[in-house]
Amino acid sequence: MRKIGCDVVFCLNDDLNCNAVTHYDTVPPTVEYKRTAWETVDILHELLHVHQFYLDGFGMLAWPTSHPPPSAIQRVVKYLRDILDNTVVHRRLWKEYSFLPIHNIFFNECRKDLERGTIGVVQNDAGPARILAIAERLWMAEMCIGEFDVALSGTDRKTCEDFLSFFTVKEPDARKIVDFDRELDRTTNLADPCDHSKSQVQLLKKLGLDQGGLYVAKYNAKEKDFLRVEDW
Ligand SMILES: [Zn+2]
Repeated sequence: MRKIGCDVVFCLNDDLNCNAVTHYDTVPPTVEYKRTAWETVDILHELLHVHQFYLDGFGMLAWPTSHPPPSAIQRVVKYLRDILDNTVVHRRLWKEYSFLPIHNIFFNECRKDLERGTIGVVQNDAGPARILAIAERLWMAEMCIGEFDVALSGTDRKTCEDFLSFFTVKEPDARKIVDFDRELDRTTNLADPCDHSKSQVQLLKKLGLDQGGLYVAKYNAKEKDFLRVEDW
């Protein structure tokens, strides 16, 4: 077991509506997780986020606690972070720990989405949040085929291919975001904290949300808090 160099509190919570989540507003950060067959990968995924933000100096898209944006914008931030932060974490899970970073749950959901012709997880979102949520699914399917291919079953690969071709046609706005992400990924190094922060801001600009009081915050060990950084 490697020491990660930062305190973390673990909290088992079988009522969570996702498999695992990290709360960054507690000191030390708290990783809540559910008991599942995947919990090792889920917990490692969260620990890599903790490493990313507390030790590697990655910036986190944030807002002032005194002026939180509307919940629709908070959802946009969630999906935007899911795309960019998880790209880095998924690649580390794969390259350094040899885990397929994408769960069976994802492939099963994609199959259901294809049967229905609509994406289930985005039902409660609208506007930019909905587009980004769809873009995240397309991005994950693309990563599976492009980067984790050798670990996929034939069925799961086919599911990802069908999902991509169907929803690329049906959701052209989400496809444009994925193409934009691909361009960011090609021209910058998302695993570099500085490039990663710039990419977050560029994606916000692409969505027209760069004036909404959001900013990039970085963890300051002395203050034991995330502080706003201006040097994008
Ligand atoms: Zn994550």
